[in-house]
Amino acid sequence: MDKAIISVATTGGITSREQTPYVPITEEEIAQQAIESWKAGASILHVHVRDEDQLATCDPERYARVQELVRAEPGCDMIINMSTGGRVGRLTEDERIAPVRVRPEVASYDCGSINFGDGVFVNSPQFLDQLAREMQEYGVKPEIECFDTGMIENAKRIIDKGLIEPPYWFQFVLGIRGGAPANIQHLNLMINELPENSRWSVCAIGRHQLPMNAIALALGGHPRTGLEDNIYYSYRVLAESNQQLVARVARLCKEMERPVATPAETREMLGLPPFQPEA
Ligand code: ZN
Repeated sequence: MDKAIISVATTGGITSREQTPYVPITEEEIAQQAIESWKAGASILHVHVRDEDQLATCDPERYARVQELVRAEPGCDMIINMSTGGRVGRLTEDERIAPVRVRPEVASYDCGSINFGDGVFVNSPQFLDQLAREMQEYGVKPEIECFDTGMIENAKRIIDKGLIEPPYWFQFVLGIRGGAPANIQHLNLMINELPENSRWSVCAIGRHQLPMNAIALALGGHPRTGLEDNIYYSYRVLAESNQQLVARVARLCKEMERPVATPAETREMLGLPPFQPEA
C-alpha cells in the first residue's frame, strides 16, 4: 500500500466560532494551524477563507495571503489545495473559479450537484467543464470531490473529454446531509467505480471522521481530518486545534503500518511537479 497522505481541512465554509472557539478564521489563524498541522504530519492543506463577517468567500487575495503565510514558514513545503466550493448558493461561478487563478497546486473540484444541508449545491455540467478548463490552463490539479456515486460517473465523462489528466485524485465526502452516508458499504461501491490510475481519500462528517479515516487506511486510501469536517476530539469534547486531530491520525497511520507521506512523496504520488519555493 501507498504511504498515507494526510489532508487537513482547517476551516471549511460552515464551521463557526459559535460551534467551537478553536476554528481558525482569519488568514493568520488558518496559516498558523496549517503550519502546526504540517509539523504533525499533514501534507495537504485544504483551505477555505472567510470574509470580515466570518462567512465563506473565494476572495483570491485572502487565499493568496494564506499561501504566502504558509510559505513564509521555513521548510514548509505542504501542498495547498484551495476550495472552489464557495458558500452554497451564494457565490457566482466566476467568484468560485477565482482561486484557481492564484495557481495553487491543487484546488477542489465538486463533481456534481446535490442538496446540501438546507441549500442546493449547484455544479452544472457546463460549470464543471469550464472549471476543469481553467484548472488545466493554470496548471492546477483538481481534487475531485464526490459526495455520491453518480459524481464519479460525472468525473469519468470529464476525463473522457480530456479535461482532467491522470493520475486522478479523488476525495470522497461522506455523511453530508443530502449525500452518500458515511459507511463502509457506500465507500466500497465508490472505490469500485473509480477509473484506473486513481488515488482516493475520505473525509467524513462529525463522529464518522475517525472511523472512516481508519477504514480508509485499512483499504489503501488516504485520510482527511480537520475542523471543517468535525469539531470534536471525542464524545462531547471539542478538538482544541486542527493539529490535535492530525497528530491522532498520524499515530493511527503508524499503528496501521501506513507510514505518513511527506509533501514531496505526496507530490510524486499525485503527479505534481517538485516543490519550487518562491524566490
Ligand atoms: Zn472544503
